[in-house]
Amino acid sequence: MNELADYQYEEWREGAACAEDTEGIFFPDDGDVGAIRRAKSICDDCPVAQDCLLYAIETNQSVGIWGGTTPRERRKLKRQWTEEIRRAS
Ligand code: SF4
Repeated sequence: MNELADYQYEEWREGAACAEDTEGIFFPDDGDVGAIRRAKSICDDCPVAQDCLLYAIETNQSVGIWGGTTPRERRKLKRQWTEEIRRAS
């Protein structure tokens, strides 16, 4: 089992800066640049952003803003990390 699969994600949610998201900006409609920017600006100051991002990548969250990233950005990060792990092994 890899360390990400072992990851206890339940606890980090308690510190989420988006816990009070009543606008739904973290799951914006396609192309809603304004909502994406607002969500990312909240993520910028979120104390659990790294945990959130790792969780989203590990669990293949395909929609929404997680850890300050869009789904496309997460796919790119996952490819980069996978390549880095491959090179290191
Ligand atoms: S990083 Fe962003 S999406 Fe993740 S918990 Fe924090 S505010 Fe919410």
